[in-house]
Amino acid sequence: MPQGKGVLYLCATPIGNLEDMSPRVLRVLGEVDLVAAEDTRHTLKLFSHFDIHTPLTSYHEHNKKSKGENLLQQLLDGKNVALVSDAGLPGISDPGEELVVLVTAAGVDVVPLPGPSAALTALVASGLPTGRFVFEGFLPVRGKQRRQRLEEIKTEKRTIILYESPHRIKTTLTELAAALGGRRAAIARELTKKYEEIRRGTLPELLEWCRANGPRGEYTLVLEGAGEEMPAAEDMVPDGKTAVERVLELESQSVARNEAIKRVARLSGINRRELYDLVARLKDKDN
Ligand code: SAM
Repeated sequence: MPQGKGVLYLCATPIGNLEDMSPRVLRVLGEVDLVAAEDTRHTLKLFSHFDIHTPLTSYHEHNKKSKGENLLQQLLDGKNVALVSDAGLPGISDPGEELVVLVTAAGVDVVPLPGPSAALTALVASGLPTGRFVFEGFLPVRGKQRRQRLEEIKTEKRTIILYESPHRIKTTLTELAAALGGRRAAIARELTKKYEEIRRGTLPELLEWCRANGPRGEYTLVLEGAGEEMPAAEDMVPDGKTAVERVLELESQSVARNEAIKRVARLSGINRRELYDLVARLKDKDN
């Protein structure tokens, strides 16, 4: 007898605090034929805490193509599958997005089970406008793409949400402070966990805080959108340029880089060493 198609359930899981697991997600994880997880070891811990015994398989960035096809076939064969990411809502900054595209194109039903997401959790606590916002996920790591994205963010009027890894948080804050100046922002660290911390201030203030406190845990950044006036970076260098632009301009006027950096650091308040790294990265390591 041919069976009907199965259903793909997108199950949100806690981003730190296990009390955020919803009863509905618990029920569905226990009832489906198979759970596809971004990190099976991580999800096994969740399963053992909640006493779930459903078969687990991996679905992650490095096997998403072949495993996606395999999961689709199982769904077409009538199996019900639940997708979970490492934490939060699958499909946001993880390969869940591709699986949804694949299975919906094949006519499989997708049922989302809402729950924690670091992006929205950070946004609502940021103290910044929530009426209109954009999610930027992770910035491109380097090069032209990163510069372009920073340029776009500079003129974005809506509140901006970014994810960042602990080892890049200082660099990203340095570059954001250089591009956006004294814009208000919030850093949400370790949301829902024991050492949760939500810091609000201007970008240079948050950078200082980050320098003093070191990268610890997981971070979500929320940035105020650009005002109607010119970008806040104007506040930092009186002639209306961002700190990096001003250094490059001085260099093009034959001022030595060290001297240009010294002058702009004094005006902008950005640490001289960090401004130096920023200029070097943007100018010399372009790819
Ligand atoms: N799908 C997940 C969601 O919706 O929350 C996000 C997955 S993304 C790969 C992971 C990123 O989310 C982390 O690098 C961090 O930027 C952010 N994040 C996850 N958990 C967090 C937490 N407890 N506190 C702050 N940020 C968190």
